[in-house]
Amino acid sequence: MAEGCLLTYSKYLYSRTHYLLDLKEKTETSIVVWLVEKDEKSKSIVFRDPSGFRELKIYGDKGEELFKLPRETLLYIRGLYDGDILRVENYEVILKPIEEPPVSYVELDEDLVKLAKYSPWYLRNAYWSNIIKLQHYMLWYAREFLYSKGFIELLPPMISVVSDPGLRGAKKLKTIFYGKEYELTSSTIMYKQATAAVYEKIFFVARNVREEPKEHISTGRHLAEFTQLDIEWALASIDDVIRLAEELLKYVSRKLLGKHQDIVFSLNKNFTEFKPPFPRISYDDALEITRKLGYDGKWGQELSQQAETALAEYYGSPVWVLKFPAISRGFYYLPDPHDPRYNLDFNLILPKGYGEVIDGGAREYRYDKLVERIKLSGEPLEKYSWFLDLAKSGGIPPSSGWGLGVERLTRYIAGAKHIALAAIFPKLPGITGTP
Ligand code: AMP
Ligand code: MG
Repeated sequence: MAEGCLLTYSKYLYSRTHYLLDLKEKTETSIVVWLVEKDEKSKSIVFRDPSGFRELKIYGDKGEELFKLPRETLLYIRGLYDGDILRVENYEVILKPIEEPPVSYVELDEDLVKLAKYSPWYLRNAYWSNIIKLQHYMLWYAREFLYSKGFIELLPPMISVVSDPGLRGAKKLKTIFYGKEYELTSSTIMYKQATAAVYEKIFFVARNVREEPKEHISTGRHLAEFTQLDIEWALASIDDVIRLAEELLKYVSRKLLGKHQDIVFSLNKNFTEFKPPFPRISYDDALEITRKLGYDGKWGQELSQQAETALAEYYGSPVWVLKFPAISRGFYYLPDPHDPRYNLDFNLILPKGYGEVIDGGAREYRYDKLVERIKLSGEPLEKYSWFLDLAKSGGIPPSSGWGLGVERLTRYIAGAKHIALAAIFPKLPGITGTP
């Protein structure tokens, strides 16, 4: 038995009778807590455990000793709790830091880079950790909804010979795999199409990495590493998948407000249930409306962020923008049969400047058309050989699908200033050296 090794002790040694936030009535208690802050003058200590933060007045001779311990000491305390007073009967130090943490996380720092650098500490902040808890429940209900609709969850690949080419401004990350250049997943589009041929209704919770332009750090909406809830549905139309997304948003928001209103409202009092159907307008109409609102846009280019914001304000709700010019997008969208200058695709724009949260469409599945579109994009066909070979032999079905930005939706529901707070270890555009 290794001496002094905690793991050689019985786990029951530290079994707690209460979490901090469950302490309400006078009671004998055993708690396992971290020491966050102390103020010897006022005899108070702020403690933390998984339930949250609690400031307690510390009484008793044994209690005095706690004030000598450094911040972030992990403690097992037995005592009498009574109306925010804790009379300490006994305590044990489970882990004593050699040095105090470099930051105090009780308040968040305004500096994004500092937040990212010390994210392992700031994640303890009550506000940030609640945003992440909200994300957990959001994914929970999104999965619950998709399972109920017959979708199966698959695990996405991390590396590919080629990832999504339609990134518009962001760069893909390369890696070396057995001496060959590979790409880290920037989107799972081709894998979605390939697996929809097997299961028809699939989804991934897929991590994506993209070197976003440095300036994107200040958009509030861009991370260099983010997550898409990525669905694909074989034989479905864009109308089917748009309605699926609307139902999902309604389901998730209703569940969150029904079961976790305390968390939601602690973050964002103004959040209300999504009420689909949302207006649908064409890209051309969106361009015209936003031009009238004073935002210059060039046909064939993305709507600017300001134009997107103005558009969602104009409608006062999330709004679908459909049929983007084919030249502005990746090769994998099906052209509009009535006018092949446009794709059968769509974006969902959130109100109040939160921007695009869903991107999707009907997919090109015909071998010859795929070849045509890839050639037009100027990329070598060989790069896509696994996908093209599959399509040639009937391996890619007609399908529609979308990707929903998990951190973007989290940010919107939480009403957070920056998307960095919707990730546990945010990778910011242009910033290296963070965990
Ligand atoms: P895209 O394929 O670029 O349209 O991305 C699909 C979805 O992922 C978008 O609608 C956003 O919700 C989300 N997304 C895209 N890029 C980022 C990013 N850099 N950071 C966070 N979310 C993103
Ligand atoms: Mg997009």
